Amino acid sequence: MRPVIIAANWKMNTTPADAGSLAVTIAAASRAPDVIRVICPPYLSLAAVRDAVTEEGIDVGAQNVHHELAGAYTGEISAPMLAGLATWVILGHSERRRDALESDALINRKLARALESGLRPIVCVGEQLADRDAGRAEDVVAAQVRGCLAGLDAAALADGGLVIAYEPVWAIGTGRTASAADAGAMSEAIRRVVAEVASPELAAAVPVLYGGSVTSANIAEFLAEPSIDGALVGGASLKPAEMAGLVGQASITAAARAAAQAG
Ligand code: PEP
Repeated sequence: MRPVIIAANWKMNTTPADAGSLAVTIAAASRAPDVIRVICPPYLSLAAVRDAVTEEGIDVGAQNVHHELAGAYTGEISAPMLAGLATWVILGHSERRRDALESDALINRKLARALESGLRPIVCVGEQLADRDAGRAEDVVAAQVRGCLAGLDAAALADGGLVIAYEPVWAIGTGRTASAADAGAMSEAIRRVVAEVASPELAAAVPVLYGGSVTSANIAEFLAEPSIDGALVGGASLKPAEMAGLVGQASITAAARAAAQAG
C-alpha cells in the first residue's frame, strides 16, 4: 500500500528566526501517525525547522539541490551539504523551471545526485495552460517524466523512495485547480510512463501527489482519486489551520485505504 503524503513547500517565505515556531505550531495542529508530513522551508531555515519538528515525526526537505556534488558553483547548495539538515528534496518545481530555466535533463542530473546522497526526491511535472487547452497535457507531462527519469536505474529510484508531484503550472498559486478527475487521469498516465521507462513495480509503488492551489476545503476531492497519494502544498502550507485540515483529510484517506487493504 502506498503512503499518504502531505508535503509543504514554503517557497521563499519565513526566516530562520520565525520558521521554527511556525513549524512547531503546524506540528502540534496536524498530528497523524498514518500520514507522512514533510516541511520544505528555505535552505536557511532547514536547521530551525529540523530542530523544531524532528521529535514530532515531521520530515524536513529542501526545495532544490545542485546537479553537481561540489565545485565552482557560486551560491549553490549540493546534496552532500544537506546531510543532517534535510531528508527530502523537491526537484524541478515549475517556479524553478520558469525562473532558473531548469530543463528535464538538468532535473535528471539533480535526481541522480539526490539518490546518491540519500535524499528522498519529489520530482515535479506539469503542463502549461496552453498545453491543456490544446489537448496535449498528457504528452507534455509524459515527456517530462521520461526526461527526468532517463537512464536512472529502476532499483535506485525505488530504493530512493521516488515521489512524483503532478502540478499543472496554471494551477500553482492561482486559486484554480485541476479537476480531480483530470488529476487522477494524469496520475495514471504518469504511472504508465514510469512502468515503461523504469519498471511496473516502481509504477505501482511510486506515490503521485497533486499540487496546485490545494486547500483543506478541496483536498478531499483529490484524495478520493485512488491514483493520488497526497498533495504538494504551497500557499496553504504556511497556515497551521490549513495544515491541520489537510493532514486530517489525508489521515481519513490513509485509514480508509488501510481498511480496504485489510479487506
Ligand atoms: C507549490 O508550490 O508546489 C504549489 C502547489 O503552490 P500552491 O499550493 O500555492 O498552488
